[in-house]
Amino acid sequence: MVNNAERTYIMVKPDGVQRGLVGNIIGRFEGRGFKLIALKLVHATPEHLEKHYEDLEGKPFFPGLIKYMAAGPVVAMVWEGLDAVKTGRAMLGATNPLASAPGTIRGDFALAVGRNICHGSDSVENAEKEIKLWFPEGTVQYTHDLAGWIFE
Ligand code: UDP
Ligand code: MG
Repeated sequence: MVNNAERTYIMVKPDGVQRGLVGNIIGRFEGRGFKLIALKLVHATPEHLEKHYEDLEGKPFFPGLIKYMAAGPVVAMVWEGLDAVKTGRAMLGATNPLASAPGTIRGDFALAVGRNICHGSDSVENAEKEIKLWFPEGTVQYTHDLAGWIFE
């Protein structure tokens, strides 16, 4: 089914913020044609991050992951558009930057799996869960005047 309003949760991680990659990452999603419907800078608590990554609890890297993600502010965003989840993941590149193709965010800016710059939801269901967790206040409704030039 064609859904021009699919939503995904994209987050610039603390290393991406510190390294000055926020504008570059936002620019990629804007340029691709996605619509920004929520955005904030937030220094998340370990408890909040444990909820975000609850599926990974018990993995050996989990404590280090929470410490890394709580070490500084992140940029939390919701982007909307055709196949936003799948295309967002493709734009991020593989989880381990060793396997991320050049041209992807991780393939262009990261070397280590534990410092991989950016998060993107991996399914529509998880996207909706993550959007609720990070934006309990909801997203912003407005008309994207370019839609007719991006979608058929
Ligand atoms: N991670 C890690 N070591 C690993 C696997 C994952 O440090 O061996 C971190 C990495 O930052 C990754 C995050 O845990 O982005 C979440 O893992 P997931 O498998 O969900 O990867 P993602 O969805 O971020 O590509
Ligand atoms: Mg994941």
